[in-house]
Amino acid sequence: MDRVVRSLSEGDVVALPTETVYGLAGSIFQDDAIRTIFSVKGRPLIDPLIVHVGDFDQLDGVAIRDPRLDVLANAFWPGPLTLVMKKRPVVSDLITAGKDTVAVRMPQGLFRQVLQRLQVPLAAPSANPFGYLSPTEAIHVERHLGNRIGLILDGGPCERGIESTILDLTTPMPTVLRLGPVSVEALQAVLGVPVLTKTSECHGAQTAPGMLKKHYSPQTPLTLFDDPSSLPSILTERVAVVLQQRPPSFTPETHTYWLSEQGKLEEVAQNLFALLQKIDRKYTHIFIQQSPPSGLGLAINDRLQRAASKTP
Ligand code: AMP
Ligand code: MG
Repeated sequence: MDRVVRSLSEGDVVALPTETVYGLAGSIFQDDAIRTIFSVKGRPLIDPLIVHVGDFDQLDGVAIRDPRLDVLANAFWPGPLTLVMKKRPVVSDLITAGKDTVAVRMPQGLFRQVLQRLQVPLAAPSANPFGYLSPTEAIHVERHLGNRIGLILDGGPCERGIESTILDLTTPMPTVLRLGPVSVEALQAVLGVPVLTKTSECHGAQTAPGMLKKHYSPQTPLTLFDDPSSLPSILTERVAVVLQQRPPSFTPETHTYWLSEQGKLEEVAQNLFALLQKIDRKYTHIFIQQSPPSGLGLAINDRLQRAASKTP
């Protein structure tokens, strides 16, 4: 922790665990660190970064509080909910891609401890090459970015396994820009008003890279299915099948994996990227089963559909 805090205060970028995925973090006050984040990831500069805060003083330094912040923060912070609000002038155009809004969240665990020690908000996208599977273990970061960054803080596997829900509070109605661990239903229950969802890729300026049709993708081609009986009957040994839960019986000659013993969606989300990271490039094709389409299942299927997309 000492080394991490020192590195960040000196303007380096460091990979840190959050409860969602591993992030590649840099001080919001050091433009060189922010530029390094973009170049290490190969991320286009038009994609704004999420600013992570450790407490409400840090929040007030970067964003103008929306009236709905208190009720949302009470229910979901620290946690996997990112809120888009009007920004303060200190937040550079590099971070927001020139927008007058900033995406902010208060993460859990080690990342928050770093923020509290450092006393400076950190901008952090996921610590993976742009477009590739998200990293949910330190080894995933090391494998793909290890030769480009100096330090990875290993906090073990991430608990949630998929990226935060992004809620835009600057639109006429609150609008989910990225589905995630906090469901639309949960947001509506807390806000007491309807919440829109606008996660398909948008028109003109890009609001969220997670909105790109193709994102979170393995190198091995991926095909989605719902019902296992729809799978081709002859699967060679070079093809992997990934199920939501342990099948009642399976033929040992096929390479079958499952994301959760009993199909619990929290476990499916937690294991999704880790399993794909493990089997990517070991097969010529991966067939993966979708989740039931409600609540967290919608967020999981969103990742799967983008991972499987052939359209850039
Ligand atoms: P990532 O860092 O890859 O998890 O992505 C962070 C997400 O937050 C991206 O999809 C960004 O486009 C989105 N984001 C960051 N700032 C803003 C903003 N001001 N308005 C809308 N979306 C944003
Ligand atoms: Mg990402």
